[in-house]
Amino acid sequence: MVDFIREQEVVSLLENSNKTDKVEIREIIQKSRLCKGLSLEEVAKLLYIEDKELLAEMFEAAKFVKNKVYGKRVVLFAPLYTSNECTNNCLYCGFRRDNKELHRRTLTLAEIINEAKAIEAQGHKRILLICGEDPRTTNVKHLTQAMEAVYKAGDIRRINIEAAPMKVEEYKELKNAGIGTYVIFQETYNRDVYQKMHPTGLKADYDWRITAIDRAFEAGIDDVGVGALFGLYDYRFEVLGLLMHAQSFEKRYGVGPHTISVPRLRPALGWGLKEIPNEVNDDEFRKIVAIFRLAVPYTGIILSTRERADFRDELLSLGVSQISAGSKTNPGGYKEDDDKADQFEVSDHRSLSKMLETICDQGYIPSFCTACYRRCRTGEAFMEYAKEGEIHEFCQPNAILTFKENLMDYGTESLKNKGEKMISKALLEIEDAKMRILTKEKLKEIEEGKRDIYF
Ligand code: SF4
Repeated sequence: MVDFIREQEVVSLLENSNKTDKVEIREIIQKSRLCKGLSLEEVAKLLYIEDKELLAEMFEAAKFVKNKVYGKRVVLFAPLYTSNECTNNCLYCGFRRDNKELHRRTLTLAEIINEAKAIEAQGHKRILLICGEDPRTTNVKHLTQAMEAVYKAGDIRRINIEAAPMKVEEYKELKNAGIGTYVIFQETYNRDVYQKMHPTGLKADYDWRITAIDRAFEAGIDDVGVGALFGLYDYRFEVLGLLMHAQSFEKRYGVGPHTISVPRLRPALGWGLKEIPNEVNDDEFRKIVAIFRLAVPYTGIILSTRERADFRDELLSLGVSQISAGSKTNPGGYKEDDDKADQFEVSDHRSLSKMLETICDQGYIPSFCTACYRRCRTGEAFMEYAKEGEIHEFCQPNAILTFKENLMDYGTESLKNKGEKMISKALLEIEDAKMRILTKEKLKEIEEGKRDIYF
């Protein structure tokens, strides 16, 4: 049994943290503004804040850190579900084996390409490939063929993959086919709850899942994303469990997670639960996002369309740095809707174009950048840049350049209006004068039709 998550230590941390005085909390919040992260002990204390004034101070610090590290950028992507066939029986999921109501489907390569083209036609450059776990249909061959076909078919520039644990050899195949980030959620870090939620199938093995990232690193994939499904167990335990997991592989491989996803459990068609076991309310969810932002300032936080539109907009300021938009959660969904084939119900139905307008209205700059991956700034190399704060200098110009491309290729009149104003504003926010001039030159080149000229 692996001991990455020392459950007793998490429980003791929580037991010892629920009566922290205000002075100490304020010291932790103050420390978080240095953008150097927080210890598990400090995180445990922040997780118990209920006082409105202290919460406001913590949210203010999260906004400060988000702005310092990420500036006004918001990265966009769309999921592409290649299959909803699954041999597991996760009680919370609509794709589970025993859900007889679900319309099952695994896309052919031609259908996957069609979906990718439909996503690209919205203006996306970054895709997250997702599928259920069925060794007969959604194996590594399915994934590598899908990736190769999508890269070849159009101008999708980065493909991340969220898929079941694999062997080292299989991860090597994903690496060779050009995987961006490998994403895997432990779902819950509590072993007993994990066992109850995953009664049968390959996913019933907690250890096989939690060691997936180790095998990915061993295979040379140094860009990984983690997550927990909030609502399965006590959210405080999950936050600490996830950070403990991140620390464990950062210690062993020198690289922490590139992203943390924060999906909140929602009912799904044919799920195996009567209700959400540990429902997380909006106030608690704001706290979760803000605390991750303070605890791991250089790790991206991803929010999906499970959340309501107004709430997603609000969470951008508290720390979220990547969002999906215009998403469909069933295989083939970009071509035809089938609400009996979804993994979960989407709450935010805004199109990418509408989302981009909202992002501009809120004073953010949308980014379609995929430069780090294509320039090999991943893993340790990325972390070095990030921790020196240099990433901010590359990312702001790249956001401007990729948003400009998007406006030229896909922008409606209304979006172009807002977008051009946002680009002018974002240019002024590039602190380094030389970089500002270089970015203006590159903007001109993009207007002249030159592409792939990012920092
Ligand atoms: S969560 Fe994943 S593994 Fe579990 S039933 Fe759904 S698709 Fe299958």
